[in-house]
Amino acid sequence: MKVSAVRALFAVANRPEIVSLAGGMPNIHDLPLGDIASNVAEMILTNGAKVMQYGSGQGEPRIREQICDVMALEGISAHPDDVMISAGSQQGLDLVTRIFCDPGDVVLAESPSYVGAIGTFLSYQAEVVHVAGDDCGIDPDALRETVARLEAAGRRIKFLYTIPNYNNPSGITQPWERRVEVLGVCRELGILVVEDNPYGLLSLDADPVPAMRSVDSDVIYLGSFSKTFAPGFRVGWVLAPHAVREKLVLAQESATLCPPVFSQFAISTYLEHSDWQGQIDAFRTMYRTRRDAMLKALADHMPPGTSWTHPIGGFFVWVTLPEGIDAQAMLPRGVDARVAFVPGAAFFADGQGARNARLSYCFPPAERIIIGVERFADVVRNELDV
Ligand code: PMP
Repeated sequence: MKVSAVRALFAVANRPEIVSLAGGMPNIHDLPLGDIASNVAEMILTNGAKVMQYGSGQGEPRIREQICDVMALEGISAHPDDVMISAGSQQGLDLVTRIFCDPGDVVLAESPSYVGAIGTFLSYQAEVVHVAGDDCGIDPDALRETVARLEAAGRRIKFLYTIPNYNNPSGITQPWERRVEVLGVCRELGILVVEDNPYGLLSLDADPVPAMRSVDSDVIYLGSFSKTFAPGFRVGWVLAPHAVREKLVLAQESATLCPPVFSQFAISTYLEHSDWQGQIDAFRTMYRTRRDAMLKALADHMPPGTSWTHPIGGFFVWVTLPEGIDAQAMLPRGVDARVAFVPGAAFFADGQGARNARLSYCFPPAERIIIGVERFADVVRNELDV
């Protein structure tokens, strides 16, 4: 484990005069706090001794049923017995890695991939090998070649970690045909798939593409309430084949005894009594406005030679800067110009991404996003003049 140089700069990036396009915090200001408070108060008064007690290592039965209803929206048909609750999907990732990976094992990941997952894999001394992709996500031929190369070198591949919906950081969504192709290659080569889908219900344009898990029950699926409700509860889940789920519960019990009971009941209550689907629609409308503002500002202000992705959901745009620019070196000059972003190298385990930056549109309001992109474009232009 190592301290991220970027994190040190984030302390500075939180200053109010800086527009932060760096963080991935969901904007939860519009949640109906009064309703949530009275429902949670009622829950404590009627059920306090249970909701504040230790609970099941697998997670509470009622929320596991409700999670199956949530996953049904992504085309997944699952049994509550196959669901394990985790402290955010981040802990799900940790436990999956813990049960599968020994030092020196290989985890395959997209190019680029989620910085928090890379950190977890590395913390178990697994090696992260990125598979090349295109605008539709993982390239099935590159996947085949990468597996062949690693196996010829005697390496043990434990799984492919993938974020097919609105990838963090690239914003790319894998179309259905590509998902089927990637699953086909993995099945043929005996590679386990770990599908991470915290943004799945936050589609901003078309209807969401069904999850990979919807057609392949061997896929290990990670879900979360962090982006569709609120991250502070720290409730996510893992849906896994029975034998894997059993091992995950043992790992969960050794890590925490049980996932947070109070949070599970609070979320259960929210799902029971609030219009959670209406709230997700409201989030989608809000994020759509912000996404549109960012894409327009990029088109209006970025210098020639810059390109970026056009996400159809989630929180992130992935920018490729003109030749010769090093985003990491540029970051302090961005902070001086009062804009923060995440340099692309953070999303690779192998030093790629020097010319990339992740810009997020989830947290600042549209007016601030436009100012942030204008500042970002100025910083890039100044780099080109140097
Ligand atoms: N996976 C991805 C792709 C993410 O972007 C995040 C949060 N940024 C997580 C997992 C972890 O989310 P949480 O633990 O809050 O569920």
